[in-house]
Amino acid sequence: MARDYYGTLGVSKNATPEEIKRAYRKLARQLHPDVNPNEEARFKEVTAAYEVLSDPKKRQVVDLGGDPLEPGGGGMRDPFAGAGFGLGDIMDAFFGAAGGSSRGPRSRVQPGSDALIRLAMTLEECAAGASRELTVDTAILCDVCTGSGCADGTSPVRCDTCGGRGEVQSVQRSFLGQVVTARPCPVCRGFGEVIPDPCRQCAGEGRVRSRRTISVQIPPGVAEGMRVRLAGQGEVGSGGGPAGDLYVEVEEIPHEVFERDGVNLHCSVRIPMTTAALGAVLPLQTLDGEEELEIEPGTQPGTELVLTGRGMPRLRSSGRVDGRGDLHVHLEVVVPTKLDARQTELLRELAVARGEEEPSLAHNGKGGGGLFSRLRSGRGHR
Ligand SMILES: [Zn+2]
Ligand SMILES: [Zn+2]
Repeated sequence: MARDYYGTLGVSKNATPEEIKRAYRKLARQLHPDVNPNEEARFKEVTAAYEVLSDPKKRQVVDLGGDPLEPGGGGMRDPFAGAGFGLGDIMDAFFGAAGGSSRGPRSRVQPGSDALIRLAMTLEECAAGASRELTVDTAILCDVCTGSGCADGTSPVRCDTCGGRGEVQSVQRSFLGQVVTARPCPVCRGFGEVIPDPCRQCAGEGRVRSRRTISVQIPPGVAEGMRVRLAGQGEVGSGGGPAGDLYVEVEEIPHEVFERDGVNLHCSVRIPMTTAALGAVLPLQTLDGEEELEIEPGTQPGTELVLTGRGMPRLRSSGRVDGRGDLHVHLEVVVPTKLDARQTELLRELAVARGEEEPSLAHNGKGGGGLFSRLRSGRGHR
């Protein structure tokens, strides 16, 4: 059975190369083992699907009903399939044996994978942007052999076991005659060549792990989960293949005071009942330093004051900052408890002065339908 590569990437059969690339990037970001260690199998599946569908020749094989990753599936459609013969496997084996396999030895040089590191940032740093020195641990090019994997003055030699083809064949008898199957050469691992005298430093890998420090510039306005891409700073591939990219992902540390909602910030401020009644100008610590918060006389609980432009920078996908969000200050009015005798007396006096010594229930809403009237009427509608 040919695998459903289109389904794996979630694209239609007539997807453009651009759509295929986009679909792959999106999935790879979710499934990359650095992000999601549990999804490694799916990551491999998705990567294999992308490898196939991004290659016009392999994609053609898929469109013809074949599977380019299946041994012997090298581009030929089972000619009997349409005629109802269930001989797919055996035919595959035949075609693998026919020398028609276009695979040949695989290259020792493979492109490297991307790497990801998380960077914890405070809200203030997310707002201002940050320049950081990061310690990264990735594979880098072996500087002794510069990626060849060979000890100084030596070079790879043709593999004797497979004769340089990278695969070995075995012959079995069946009712159709001889069936030849091919599999990667176990001696050279499919490379078709072996390194007789491997580099001492990298043991023939062409790359070594290394810890190094790089500096990264995080733009203002970043948020949790956003990534900065450092091209070519990821893992160097085997055989010294070109390095993948390094992604620095922002991990936003929750702020003690401000809660973030996109570019807007929210905070709540408690003010005494007397302040709410009398009004005041209070100092408020914002991202821009101390500012004056003006409480109007007669401020009600739940009042929201908006400080325009005191939120987070609005970071566009172009990397430019386009204005700032707002800071919403939610006022909580604190009613005093534990009044002493004098305070109680003062409040009673106030109540008398305001004609509030015998309070009555006032209802909000249209038609006098406050909570209490609804409860009394017993209808209980909400
Ligand atoms: Zn080396
Ligand atoms: Zn070999």
